[in-house]
Amino acid sequence: MPDKKWTLDDAQHAVDQWINQWEEGYFSPLSNLARLSEEVGELARELNEIHGDKPSKSPADEDRIADELGDILFVVITLANSLDIDLDNALRQVLKKYDIRDSERFTPKAGPVAD
Ligand SMILES: [Mg+2]
Repeated sequence: MPDKKWTLDDAQHAVDQWINQWEEGYFSPLSNLARLSEEVGELARELNEIHGDKPSKSPADEDRIADELGDILFVVITLANSLDIDLDNALRQVLKKYDIRDSERFTPKAGPVAD
């Protein structure tokens, strides 16, 4: 793994290299959707045990939330790669959409916006 922060392109390339080392290659989009649902459920369990009303059987560990978010990100990237979707472009389009949709929904902060 490189020392520098990855771009979305870097991440998509790294996941592609990882998957392509195996004969099985990419799972089908529907299998990846099922995996994504599983991982979201695992994140929900961790959040509920640490921040929710469900008591935890094991000590709370914020690292488990990061692990589950990493699992979710991996599956999202895998799904995007398998469908030849550029996540950088997809995220840019989403932020443009939100800029328009939410322009009057929230209260802008006073002063300069941090980068
Ligand atoms: Mg998981």
